[in-house]
Amino acid sequence: MSEQDCLFCKIIDGEIPADIVFESKTAIGFRDINPQAPIHMVIIPREHVATINDIDAAHEALVGSLFSAAKQVAADEGLSEDGYRVVMNCNEAAGQTVFHIHLHLLGGRQLRWPPG
Ligand code: 5GP
Ligand code: ZN
Repeated sequence: MSEQDCLFCKIIDGEIPADIVFESKTAIGFRDINPQAPIHMVIIPREHVATINDIDAAHEALVGSLFSAAKQVAADEGLSEDGYRVVMNCNEAAGQTVFHIHLHLLGGRQLRWPPG
């Protein structure tokens, strides 16, 4: 399932260290190395899926589990009540740089809308 040369598959396999804050059967969450907010987590499926464009019906439960993970991590970080943002970028125009789908979970400051 893991893809050679995929940074996030390497984090899942333990080849690259990460500050892991969440683990389930289907997903893991860790602190972003270049945080854009006081709390910035990355939540990824254990299965390699490159972009939103590669999600199919068989991935629906997997993708749903990313949101369950986000809700849990937000609660653990004390963000539930104040609020937080969950976003997934797709391809270059949206700023995707790692081609293994991931939710960004951002919180701990007032977030502007729309994003730039
Ligand atoms: P994207 O730009 O693809 O939406 O998001 C990729 C995210 O992964 C970026 O926010 C980037 O800072 C983060 N990132 C890239 N390399 C690493 C790494 O080696 N470790 C961690 N923890 N985050 C990373
Ligand atoms: Zn991967």
